[in-house]
Amino acid sequence: MNLILFGAPGAGKGTQAQYIVRNYKYFQLSTGDLLRKEITKKTSLGFEIEKIISKGEFVSDEIVNTLLINSLINKTNNNGIIFDGYPRNISQAINLEKILKEQKKKINFVFYLKVSKEIIQKRILGRVTCDICNVTLNEFFNQQEIENHKCGKKNLKRRKDDNEMTVISRYDTYIEKTKPVLDFYFKKEGFHEIDGSLKIDEITSKIDQILNL
Ligand code: AMP
Repeated sequence: MNLILFGAPGAGKGTQAQYIVRNYKYFQLSTGDLLRKEITKKTSLGFEIEKIISKGEFVSDEIVNTLLINSLINKTNNNGIIFDGYPRNISQAINLEKILKEQKKKINFVFYLKVSKEIIQKRILGRVTCDICNVTLNEFFNQQEIENHKCGKKNLKRRKDDNEMTVISRYDTYIEKTKPVLDFYFKKEGFHEIDGSLKIDEITSKIDQILNL
């Protein structure tokens, strides 16, 4: 089974992906993570990517598709793949269908986490992620967990593109560019819209219900 977690930045895709990885032994493929990994390598490609991400724009399909294909090589030791942050435009959606078809696979579920711009702003501006265990917490909602975090508070870092200006631009870019992708999957079997403003475990249990059908 393969699935897409779809929704604006801050909709909770990463959090739900981590849950599915733990409980269903799926492989999480986040194109945002792949791009950030490239930035840490400090290559010329990394610098190019950093400039685009810091403006809240989309990285070119050519770069993203290459990173995606490289990451998919030899990923057979799991129950499925979670596409997190991909596809973000129609040409990526078509590319994904083509790649999966070549491997005799398909997308079984699309979970669309729908959240308003106001909630997204609050979630993203408070978001911190651990450099070591990759857990994501929020300075507005998880103060106690941040203080007691097992890897140490100092490893919880804010993403560079999580600032007010970039958040708004990322949200607007997302809505404008991804609307056709939503229309593309909306009519297909396996598409589920979930209210992304619900609590984390309420969303998780909705996903569980669908995956366990
Ligand atoms: P994310 O971690 O999914 O919020 O992605 C962070 C940033 O990486 C986005 O704002 C885009 O600039 C870039 N990015 C991630 N995935 C894609 C994609 N599929 N296509 C284009 N750009 C992407």
